[in-house]
Amino acid sequence: MAAVNGGSESQPAKHQEVGHKSLLQSDELYQYILETSVNLMTTSADEGQFLSMLLKLINAKNTMEIGVYTGYSLLSTALALPEDGKILALDINRENYEIGLPIIKKAGVAHKIDFREGPALPLLDQMINDEKFHGSFDFIFVDADKDNYLNYHKRLIDLVKIGGVIGYDNTLWNGSLVAPPEAPLRKYVRYYRDFVLELNKTLAIDPRVDICQLPNTMEIGVYTGYS
Ligand code: SAM
Ligand code: CA
Repeated sequence: MAAVNGGSESQPAKHQEVGHKSLLQSDELYQYILETSVNLMTTSADEGQFLSMLLKLINAKNTMEIGVYTGYSLLSTALALPEDGKILALDINRENYEIGLPIIKKAGVAHKIDFREGPALPLLDQMINDEKFHGSFDFIFVDADKDNYLNYHKRLIDLVKIGGVIGYDNTLWNGSLVAPPEAPLRKYVRYYRDFVLELNKTLAIDPRVDICQLPNTMEIGVYTGYS
């Protein structure tokens, strides 16, 4: 059986080496499933649900999202916030945001969103230079260029309020963080892996933050009072 990335025909399948629980005995088939059925960019439905619950639990009102794409996590956030809630949404690409915008409008939550097109870093620097933004965000979701996560962290720590939450998406980086060096990783997974490792290491020893990795295995229920 051939391995996906540069392996020879005689090598055994490598898909088990990256640690996923697939019952498939074929790397090619697994890769095919990823390519044809999994949208690699958007947050998954269960994560959207978690995001929504977290926002309600912390009574978030003023939030920021870095990395919008077509707006799936943005919609989850907008729906979870109160009527006067706000999301400052940053992305280098407005076109993708506009693909999802009709759905956001249909959901009646577009008024909560302030979308800004452009690289996030200079926009964050502008905010850092303005005292009124310091400690002003209840929640910040980061899901953009992984090689800038640490640069974002250095700035966001001043912008989030004490007791507020910053969510860094994909910090287990497709499970690749514990993959052996020869594991068949997609090129972009391999490229960003070191940046994600560095972020995790830095956050783990940053005395200003409490951290928690979420492998999405827990189920929690919060009583809403509705029947
Ligand atoms: N959060 C979205 C969701 O769950 O549906 C997915 C976001 S997608 C994984 C990453 C997004 O980050 C892309 O839309 C990309 O344009 C944006 N991005 C990449 N580099 C960026 C940067 N330097 N500043 C702002 N946005 C950036
Ligand atoms: Ca993501």
